Amino acid sequence: MTALVGIDLGGTQVRAILATEDGRVLARYRTRTAPEDGPEAVMGRIVAAARTVMAQAGGLPIAGVGAGSPGPLDYRDGVVLAAPNLGWINVPLKARLEAELGLPVVVGNDANAAALAERRFGAARGVDNLVYMTVSTGIGGGIITGGRLLLGRRGFAGEIGHAAIEPHGPPCKCGNTGCLEALASGPAIARAAAERVGRGEPSVMLSLAGGDPKRITAEIVAEAARGGDSLAADVLQNAAFYIGVALVNLIHILEPELILIGGGVAHAGDLLFDTIRSVVRQRAIPCMAAQVRIEPAALGDDAGVLGAIALFLEYGRT
Ligand SMILES: [Zn+2]
Repeated sequence: MTALVGIDLGGTQVRAILATEDGRVLARYRTRTAPEDGPEAVMGRIVAAARTVMAQAGGLPIAGVGAGSPGPLDYRDGVVLAAPNLGWINVPLKARLEAELGLPVVVGNDANAAALAERRFGAARGVDNLVYMTVSTGIGGGIITGGRLLLGRRGFAGEIGHAAIEPHGPPCKCGNTGCLEALASGPAIARAAAERVGRGEPSVMLSLAGGDPKRITAEIVAEAARGGDSLAADVLQNAAFYIGVALVNLIHILEPELILIGGGVAHAGDLLFDTIRSVVRQRAIPCMAAQVRIEPAALGDDAGVLGAIALFLEYGRT
């Protein structure tokens, strides 16, 4: 038996695990990313996190390292082209980690990695045609078709968050307007709620945010909706509508058998999922809508680190 290191590089935290090939976690470590300190400092924290979990291998040989990073990221040479949340441009993540750790390293987009993790360790075991979507600060995606991750030419494929859903809709960070991410991500949900509360629509969200609409978060919207607040429910259902429309397109293009939705916003639960499923039922070609399940992802906060392990298992030995 061998062990593997999985690294999840996020805008807020760097997480590392040591795990066996079947996903049993042997050691965990997490630290602040603090991207404001610059790429070199972050690289130092990633290396330190990896070494911390590697020190707990207890004599088990370590086969390699997987690392999931915000994209776009060229999976062939392991260079992160641009990661706005990290302030990174053209950072050679794979080469740096291989030099520092002395192990083979596979890097990949974090949402692609999470899709692989759900298939190997989570809610998509045995599923060859999967759409994975994570809805949190942004909206990311990973597509598995015919049992293989859809990479595109350089590994940029699967950017579900930048599917254009409302062509004249709100601006997106990518430069387009009306992307799914600009309509249904956590910040988009919070902004929609803040606008309506700011216009005087009654809602418990105002007091939950301490009287300042600008302090409404997606978590507050979800909490208020669960408590029966009709404005919060409406805001969430609007986001769910857009997610459903995006999924109708994906269902028609890819014919998945399972769609998994993860990320913080998925914690909103039935209110979100019921609307998404009903949009799909109403709008997708019936024979295609009937055969697809839409479910919450299973791995939660571990999706990133287990995804990094899955990346290495998938691509580290070829
Ligand atoms: Zn976009």
